[in-house]
Amino acid sequence: MTQVKVRFAPSPTGFLHIGGLRTALFNFLFARKNQGKFMLRIEDTDKAREVDGAVENIETTLKTFALRYDEGPVFQSQRLQIYQEHIQILIDKGAAYRCYCTNERIAELKKQAELLKQPFRYDKYCLKNPGQTGKSYVVRQNIPEEGITVFTDEVYGEIKVENRLLDDGVLMKTDGYPVYNFANVVDDHLMRITHVIRGEEFISSTPKHVLLYEAFGWNLPQFVHLPLLLDNKRQKLSKRSGDVAVNEYLEKGYLPEAILNFIAFLGWNPKNEQEIFSLEELIEAFDLKKINKAGAVFDVEKLNWFNAQYIQKIPITKLAELAGPHFGRDVSNYPKMFLQQIVQIEKERLTVLTEIGERTMYFFDNPEYETALLQWKQMTEEELKRSVQISQKLIEQVPLDAQKEQIQAAFFDSIGEKDKGSLLWPLRVALTGLKASPGPFEIIEAFFKLTDGKQILQKRLQTALEKLDQV
Ligand code: GLU
Repeated sequence: MTQVKVRFAPSPTGFLHIGGLRTALFNFLFARKNQGKFMLRIEDTDKAREVDGAVENIETTLKTFALRYDEGPVFQSQRLQIYQEHIQILIDKGAAYRCYCTNERIAELKKQAELLKQPFRYDKYCLKNPGQTGKSYVVRQNIPEEGITVFTDEVYGEIKVENRLLDDGVLMKTDGYPVYNFANVVDDHLMRITHVIRGEEFISSTPKHVLLYEAFGWNLPQFVHLPLLLDNKRQKLSKRSGDVAVNEYLEKGYLPEAILNFIAFLGWNPKNEQEIFSLEELIEAFDLKKINKAGAVFDVEKLNWFNAQYIQKIPITKLAELAGPHFGRDVSNYPKMFLQQIVQIEKERLTVLTEIGERTMYFFDNPEYETALLQWKQMTEEELKRSVQISQKLIEQVPLDAQKEQIQAAFFDSIGEKDKGSLLWPLRVALTGLKASPGPFEIIEAFFKLTDGKQILQKRLQTALEKLDQV
């Protein structure tokens, strides 16, 4: 059996988007599942549309997601000689021809087609009138005027197109650069690609590719088109509805493992209940037969769900490291134990890492709050002050290495039968300035990881006392 070989073939016209990453992932999974090869081919023949930094972004993104390729990157712009040779073969076979028509003539033909509300199709003028000359020419594909082109797609089944509906599109431009339709076919053949796995938007170009394979006398690869990505209104996914650079998701604090797991489900599913998959498990479960035809809905809520699941799974040391850049301030001088404790406290509530900054401000800045927030039930100012003073005393007594259980025990012992809220509410507000926050004992435990933790706590309680004095 021939060895499976697939490729991810992005054009460097922008940073890698969710759709591109899905294509890369499915190619990778298929290669690994079948002990095949996965290559990266950069389709950079449209120099005008190339974006600075795109190639680098594609490579680093694949690396971030551990989608390792066995070959490449191969750049099409470095293979122009090969395309020149192959275009000549097609011309010699009559499957392509030089076209000297001016831009003005083509524009005129397009205008006429528009007036007739018909799709533009070149009228084969230069094929029918050989001997044209001119300064420059393009090479066009000579599509048969009759007949039907048929191919079988692994996902969409048999696809048939009448040749008369296809246009004699340009294969090679005046500057000698091939266009996508041509270079793509030549490379897939020369690079022995067995399965062409790509987005559904390329299915309409595939009949032209098939005609080129036939003209060359080459075997067809297996075509596998992946369903369109839709937004939750079932419209084509747009930039606004989430089809943005993968980078942006990483910057927002989504974890690569979560993004990948989410993306695997865009058009594929294991046909069982399992949702959380590591890359290894995805390889194991992946099967082209489980790819759906129907458009895949990109649901950000689902991505959030995956992300929250992965946040729970990551060891706290690693999670604290990943959260580091998301505190919204430089936290490099804070002890690791302090940051880990904060992350530990918040992790259950996090969907994306960026939320950590906003949720934990009170650990870094003294809180500001209305004095009235200190109020618990019907307590008088005097009672409130006494409560805060008890907290001050207890914090002084508890050893710095105490864990929250021990801190809690000390506080609960002191309070006896009284309403716990009368001690804990003013304490928590004094420390956080918030109506709702994690419990005071875990917060105190975190501050204990700072050498001046007790001083900070005392200062905040002192501020509460001063506020109560001013009532
Ligand atoms: N260069 C095309 C793209 O930008 C590749 C399509 C294909 O995989 O054949 O997506």
